[in-house]
Amino acid sequence: MFRILRYLILISLISSGYYLFIFEYSNISEKYIFDEEIIKKEIVEDKKEKKEEDSPNIKKIIDKEQFVQKKIEILQGDTFVSILENLNFKQKKIYEIINKIEGSFDLKKIKTGEIISVFENNFGEIKKIEFFKNSETIISVNLDKEINLNIIELTKNSFIESKEYKISESLFSDGIKNGVSSDILVKIIRLFSFDLDFQRDIRVDTIVSISYEFDEIVETGRLEYNDIKYASIMIDGKQLEYFMFITDDGYIDYFNREGKNVKKSILKTPLDGARISSNFGMRKHPISGFNKMHKGVDFAAPTGTPIYAGGNGIVEYVGRNGGYGKYIRIRHNNGYETAYAHLSNYKKGISKGVRVNQGEVIGYVGSTGNSTGPHLHYEIIYQNKHINPLKLKLPSGKILQGKELEKFRKKYKIIYADHLSMLYE
Ligand SMILES: [Zn+2]
Repeated sequence: MFRILRYLILISLISSGYYLFIFEYSNISEKYIFDEEIIKKEIVEDKKEKKEEDSPNIKKIIDKEQFVQKKIEILQGDTFVSILENLNFKQKKIYEIINKIEGSFDLKKIKTGEIISVFENNFGEIKKIEFFKNSETIISVNLDKEINLNIIELTKNSFIESKEYKISESLFSDGIKNGVSSDILVKIIRLFSFDLDFQRDIRVDTIVSISYEFDEIVETGRLEYNDIKYASIMIDGKQLEYFMFITDDGYIDYFNREGKNVKKSILKTPLDGARISSNFGMRKHPISGFNKMHKGVDFAAPTGTPIYAGGNGIVEYVGRNGGYGKYIRIRHNNGYETAYAHLSNYKKGISKGVRVNQGEVIGYVGSTGNSTGPHLHYEIIYQNKHINPLKLKLPSGKILQGKELEKFRKKYKIIYADHLSMLYE
């Protein structure tokens, strides 16, 4: 596996370096760009080896018309038309080209930052225009007397790769040093964000072990990273691990060996026996009478009803807070904060900086501040934005059972065996 990967990386390095060369194309209308690229590569290599011999076969190809590839990056405000205008195409020709492409591709979908390649012959005439429809498809427009459109499907190969590394700086920077793509590192951090505070919990010598899927587009060498199959973080001998599993209801999710989904959602309802008395969204304020955004959900409940911490975290604020009355705010590990207002009282021991666990009692329902009756006003804040707690799209802690659990056990053993064999083979 490693040998194949090394080979692939080599190939992609060669082909990206190869882009720097000026392309010579023997016959642009018959062959596709990347076929040509590979053929060209062979020719260049042959040429090096057989310089002295000067084989007639190779000479013939090189003597043919030469093409220079120019790459145009689409900038803010560019359109396909403006790009063709800048290339000095006549309006009639632009119309014809656009017309031809629009039959199979909506040019509005071309985005800023994407690349359009144009191929010029010795006389500076543009003979071909190419761009990616998506990472696996190239649209190639040949500009001979007639305009021809080729849709080129590239070859995609899928791989699984395993990596293991020790953290000396951070999960992310050491991951990059060990050749893990940033796409995968972001996914790992997201996966563990409910269990770990990456600033606080990660120590030197934490071991990260992962297995993930990626696709390689053969012709371009482009790599696309997909799902993590296995991830383990070992801190001081304590291991947190997840295995990917597609549940019976069709979701890709992550479970530990016991079949427990380790992702802990923030509680949507942080108290028992409550009823929603006011929802999230615009409403007429019951006291001021103005239309105002209601940034949380109100749960009507008798005074003194215990309120639970919505998730593991650290108490950030305890005290009076204007119209919110007696108020608590908790910061969670993953960019989330929860706030609790109009309390009658705080739980003993709850103060700023205290660590709380999900479900732990932090205070009691009341009617302090601007409130018309005993209720809890509950807010979930994600990256400083209020979100609707009832629409929180986080998976709840599912536990696999019965046949689904059996299926999972079989799957995770395969994933784990593959992971080990790729690491240590
Ligand atoms: Zn409210």
